[in-house]
Amino acid sequence: MDIVTYGNPVLAKPASPVAEVTPELHQLARDMLEAMYAADGVGLAAEQIGRTEALCVIDVPAASQGRFAELDAGVPMPLVMFNPVVSEPEGTQRGNEGCLSFPGVSAQVTRALSVRVDYMGEDGKNYSVRVHGLLARAVQHEVDHLNGVVFVDRLSPTQRMLVAGKLRKLKREAK
Ligand SMILES: [Zn+2]
Repeated sequence: MDIVTYGNPVLAKPASPVAEVTPELHQLARDMLEAMYAADGVGLAAEQIGRTEALCVIDVPAASQGRFAELDAGVPMPLVMFNPVVSEPEGTQRGNEGCLSFPGVSAQVTRALSVRVDYMGEDGKNYSVRVHGLLARAVQHEVDHLNGVVFVDRLSPTQRMLVAGKLRKLKREAK
């Protein structure tokens, strides 16, 4: 399963909601998890493999959650989310962010420190969880993807200038 990179128009497309978790979509989620682990990522959205279903997968290890590990202990991991919607942002965090579709590019991005996310799980049931810290960052990043938004869209003009050369190169070599 190839991960598409910046310049591929699918990354700017809003995803389509999923009505039910068919066996095919169940398998797609499993394949996306495999691709994410193989690439050493903590999240992957369907757009990143050239699909437009509203589906993303996330796995943030408890060890990376620091002071939030206990608060988020009840969140099932890996997170497989269909039709995720983020709401009720609280606080802010600024931290380094990268993306499997932007190899070699990273930048400081401001995100909410904590958000609520409502989604349909692999079992077709609806869930609502509150997430914090790095996990909240990953959720916001992946849900952005499903809205056709990538993390460089959230950079300031100055930050954008700093990565412009790398972005041009990625666009030239887009797959
Ligand atoms: Zn990404």
